Amino acid sequence: MLRFHHGSVSPVRGCETEGMRAWVVRTPGRLERVELPTPAPGPDELLVRVRACGVCRTDLHVRDGDLPPHKSPVVPGHEVVGDVVAAGAAIPDYPVGTRVGVPWLRRTCGVCKYCTRGRENLCPHSLYTGWDADGGYAEYTTVPAAYAYPLPEKDFAEYSDEELAPLLCAGIIGYRALRRADLPPGGRLGVYGFGGSAHLTAQVAIGQGAVVHVLTRSPEAQALARELGAASAAGAYDAPPEPLDSAILFAPVGDLVPVALSALDRGGTLSVAGIYLTDIPPLAYDRQLFQERNLRSVTANTREDGREFLAAAAAYKLRIAVTPYPFDQADQALDDLAADRVNGVAVLVH
Ligand SMILES: [Zn+2]
Ligand SMILES: [Zn+2]
Repeated sequence: MLRFHHGSVSPVRGCETEGMRAWVVRTPGRLERVELPTPAPGPDELLVRVRACGVCRTDLHVRDGDLPPHKSPVVPGHEVVGDVVAAGAAIPDYPVGTRVGVPWLRRTCGVCKYCTRGRENLCPHSLYTGWDADGGYAEYTTVPAAYAYPLPEKDFAEYSDEELAPLLCAGIIGYRALRRADLPPGGRLGVYGFGGSAHLTAQVAIGQGAVVHVLTRSPEAQALARELGAASAAGAYDAPPEPLDSAILFAPVGDLVPVALSALDRGGTLSVAGIYLTDIPPLAYDRQLFQERNLRSVTANTREDGREFLAAAAAYKLRIAVTPYPFDQADQALDDLAADRVNGVAVLVH
């Protein structure tokens, strides 16, 4: 096994040169094709040869500068599926050849009150792949071993690399929202909006025995929801056919908060999955919050969310609509995503 020391540049097994192809953001609004040195993993990190990398809306925010640059230039991409080709000096026994997933959450401090209370998603010192550190729009990337998810072939035999990639952000974040919604076993779940993250989350909930009602504008999305096992599908502002124990708002539309709260049964919980939400109109306390209805936000995710979600994905084969793009067309993939021209989830493949 090759071992690397932090900062050293060493040749990589199976790689003829020390350089690699990559895409970087240097100036807002532009993704550039470059050659970079193959990165050297830090002492607790893995070097990963990228097989596939999902294209997430957050990558657009990194490209366009909506997220303030934390590193420049930076290689975007945080839905990486790849093979471990080398491990850092502090983890010499990590098995080379393991297929792993590299997610958005890259590091947390481990010592603050949030980390020590099991809420590392709230760690103020957390770092993110493809924003604070170079990500997966490249031939190779690095990841702290403790934040990588092993994806053994035996557990994920029914998935291709391209299908696994979107699980690492869209899937995990959606699962966090499901946990935050406190759905009781066999309960009735409302899903507002039905994009990439929502359709994965709905399938997990159905797999776990929930009755899922999907409320979304597009007739195509409603049809897909029924096909995937939803008990009903209707317009976003329609009332579901029965009161909901829990609901998740995936659409970034604040106007839907009172609508979803009104659809909850007594004691029900609404979790808001998105980072962005338009303003929430005034709530009617008696109809929308009284009787212990709960309204909750969702911020990033913990590693436990990731492990639980991937275990669920291994147990229930999730259907994922993927549009593959050759690695050389990453700029096109981002442009298509910006223009809503992608069917399903865009994934870069090598
Ligand atoms: Zn912390
Ligand atoms: Zn993402």
